[in-house]
Amino acid sequence: MRALPATVLAVCGLIASACGGTEPGGAAAGQAPSTVQETGKASVQDGPTETATAKQAPPGAKPLAGKIIVIDPGHNGANYRHPAEINRKVNVLTQMKECDTTGTATKSGYSEAAFTWDVSNRMAKILEQRGATVKLTRSSNDGVGPCIDKRAAIGNKARADAAISVHGDGSDNPSHRGFHVILPKKINGPVDKVVGASTKLGIDVRDAYLKGTGIPYSNYVGTKALNFRNDIGGLNLSTVPKVLVECGNMRNAVDAAKFQDPKFRQRIALALANGMQHYLEP
Ligand SMILES: [Zn+2]
Repeated sequence: MRALPATVLAVCGLIASACGGTEPGGAAAGQAPSTVQETGKASVQDGPTETATAKQAPPGAKPLAGKIIVIDPGHNGANYRHPAEINRKVNVLTQMKECDTTGTATKSGYSEAAFTWDVSNRMAKILEQRGATVKLTRSSNDGVGPCIDKRAAIGNKARADAAISVHGDGSDNPSHRGFHVILPKKINGPVDKVVGASTKLGIDVRDAYLKGTGIPYSNYVGTKALNFRNDIGGLNLSTVPKVLVECGNMRNAVDAAKFQDPKFRQRIALALANGMQHYLEP
């Protein structure tokens, strides 16, 4: 969630060694396209998903049939190359805020945008297998944006039963680790009517994430991994139940190692899908 300045990522893109990257294209940017290829839908592992689905749904009765879920993979892989576009201010009701940010990256150069794109696609596949209609707020990891207000609007327009933004945090204190879920607060705006439902969704996602990934509650933000905020555009502007999950701290070595492992990303996706399902099931 916390962004490296666009200039820093731009420098990383130009000078790979400065960020530990090994590819000529640079750290964060260089990994994004290959990550998409490596972890696109075709290569997502089906084992855990099918097992979980089979346990929870008898044949012919998909548990999430009729449900609409919007997944917002945080940032975008080419944001850092377009600072003017992503720095443009948009109105998030409580303040004016940048359209989007570059996102962070692990110390070895695995970008938050690549992480969120991969986890979101894995989650989409799981939820679709369980019968849900799933929409993502972006269609690739090599583009720019969309802006945070547009990301919220996509969920609203879809009339999503639930929406989730997927992020990884970027606290530079290396001892900071663990995950947290950001929830909307009442702001005397349209989001007020879904603050209660979003809180329930957030608790379900938190509980499923802890259980499914073993990643501990954040040791540096929130209370029991819940953090209510009124400055997040994608939440402030949502009229459907929505939360933002910071899956861990990408600048922490323990969390980063997990995020860089495709098998662990599948666990993350499954845990998040389970949290969404728990919220959506009667
Ligand atoms: Zn982020």
